[in-house]
Amino acid sequence: MINKVRFGPAGNPIGFRGKTIEVCDYINELGLESYEYQATYGVKISKCSAKLLQKNSKENDILVSMHGPYYINLSSNKDDVIERSVERLVKAAEISEAMGAYRTVFHPGFYTTYTPEEAMKKAKKAVNQINEMVESNNITDYCFSPETTGKKSQLGSLDEIIELCQTFENFQPTIDFAHIHARNGGCINSIEDYEKIFRKLEHELDPKILHCHFTKIEFSDAGERKHHTLKEDDYGPPLEPLLKLVIECGWNINIICETPLLEIDASLMQSQYYEILKTR
Ligand SMILES: [Zn+2]
Repeated sequence: MINKVRFGPAGNPIGFRGKTIEVCDYINELGLESYEYQATYGVKISKCSAKLLQKNSKENDILVSMHGPYYINLSSNKDDVIERSVERLVKAAEISEAMGAYRTVFHPGFYTTYTPEEAMKKAKKAVNQINEMVESNNITDYCFSPETTGKKSQLGSLDEIIELCQTFENFQPTIDFAHIHARNGGCINSIEDYEKIFRKLEHELDPKILHCHFTKIEFSDAGERKHHTLKEDDYGPPLEPLLKLVIECGWNINIICETPLLEIDASLMQSQYYEILKTR
């Protein structure tokens, strides 16, 4: 049996003018199969609307994830920042459950004044707090998905994301290839480079569905600077070797398009994927 590979936009499609609770009709019409709801500036959708969005996604067989707020720093050196971050993530889990989001994506934090090891320790302590609060609020159907981050100042190298996911049962990784590329000075250039990431994930986590982000990215010495469209060849990482590996590896994979062209580039990625599949 062939593996299931989905493509979808990070947020409401640029060409969509309707209400978010009906966005999956539009995504389905485009032939795309997933959607990442953006709660990046706070979880503003009501529980009731989230449930309607879930219904709409089921009717259209769209796999939904949520990108949690940017303002999260689980490894902050300020207690009140951690406290607010914990609250935001608990809220994100609650709404994710109502939405039927299979992943609640978030950027774990910054190293600030800490060493990476100290920052990780801080973050784990905060996650324990989150898990306690989630449990006491009777939230059961959610999965936190820490993302590989794009700046060298951020907690979120591939190894750190793997460590978090190995530590907590309700954690699965979000692999943002552009971020890995940017924080490591442009390290992804060939299928072998992608293979290293996949092999590590298989060995350490063996994910049932791999949740991914893809965009072309501009970076500096500090890491991520700006997202670019798929057709901008000056920027990496390359898409074709990733698609080849996605076919080869046989995993179920969800690729969320984070270029400025959202659904347009998601459709481009999808058609390129089917083209490569045809020639095999
Ligand atoms: Zn991302």
